[in-house]
Amino acid sequence: MTGEGTRVVRAGLPDPVPGAPLLPGPTFAAPYHLPGDPAAAPYDYGRYDNPTWSAYERALGELEGGEAVVFASGMAAVAAVLLPSLRAGDVVVAPSDGYAVVRDFADAELSKRGVEVRLVPTTEAHDALDAAAVVWLETPTNPGLDVCDVQAIAGAARAAGALVAVDNTTATPLGQRPLELGADLSVASDSKGLTGHGDLIMGHVAAREPRLAARVRAWRDRTGAVPGPLETWLAHRSLATLEVRLERQCASALALSELLAARRDVGSVRYPGRPGDPAHNVAARQMRRFGAVVSFELEGADRAERFLRACELVYQATSFGGVHTTAERRARWGYGDAPEGLIRLSVGLEDADDLLADVAGALDATRPR
Ligand SMILES: *Cc1c(COP(=O)(O)O)cnc(C)c1O
Repeated sequence: MTGEGTRVVRAGLPDPVPGAPLLPGPTFAAPYHLPGDPAAAPYDYGRYDNPTWSAYERALGELEGGEAVVFASGMAAVAAVLLPSLRAGDVVVAPSDGYAVVRDFADAELSKRGVEVRLVPTTEAHDALDAAAVVWLETPTNPGLDVCDVQAIAGAARAAGALVAVDNTTATPLGQRPLELGADLSVASDSKGLTGHGDLIMGHVAAREPRLAARVRAWRDRTGAVPGPLETWLAHRSLATLEVRLERQCASALALSELLAARRDVGSVRYPGRPGDPAHNVAARQMRRFGAVVSFELEGADRAERFLRACELVYQATSFGGVHTTAERRARWGYGDAPEGLIRLSVGLEDADDLLADVAGALDATRPR
């Protein structure tokens, strides 16, 4: 058993060939040379397959413990699971406190196709599985960082005949492995911490059973939600540093969450890695790393905005998991998924001392008198 740092560095790389790069560069192709029977060549047309995808999919498959299929974005991966799995009359259970665009997708695209969308808080998912065709979990949730017990829910849901998918974006496969915990599918946005450099949009689905992977792949063939080879290559290159990035991010996020929790002018600090967090016990049972995202509440929108402006090292930006520390007042999007003063902060790779001093300084400078 090799360590995870070793596994991410080597994941998906081809056997060494003298004179060839360790990670071959992106292959740009629409058609490939294809004489005679198409089945005789490994690659035929660029919407169906690409060697750069194959290498990255192999890497993701090794880390997830299943078969991976890459997509043009996280939402393309979400759609590739939900649309072909649900028909009129089916029930899908999904988190009321998860990623808002998944909820919006369910509202706009599934409801009108006759699917009953049942939204329940992540911490209550276990009690709402009745008659579900698909159970969609997200843990830890974005932005609230609540956690549910994947093994318990997946066991009960699958016993009742449901398909179980986990949005694993905030955790990454080095944080938790949903397929090992009993889920059928692990779905993620690769635009976030998995690739971590904030320079691409991609997603993937990993399946335990080849039959499910084939269905997801067929959906991609037909709908064409494919990533470009350059993005895919960048993603694979970035994956090599995932373990090193997460080690730094998790240590700093824990220290920051302790600093925040100790302050009287900060409320509702959430970080599943903090022993005092309401989700810590469940998280510790199924997660090996707790991620880069910390959330907390300041008193009202005005203080939250002043805090963000007062930070010098923290970029104001959406998204999370990247090498740069970023934060935003989540309610500014109007999704209705966050209190006015809630800050979602994603810890980057800056020195923890610098980061903690910056955040503490900005809190002090904006503290209500
Ligand atoms: C960002 C995100 C998505 C969507 O991913 P894109 O790559 O932006 O399409 C899905 N789920 C979660 C939890 C996310 O944070």
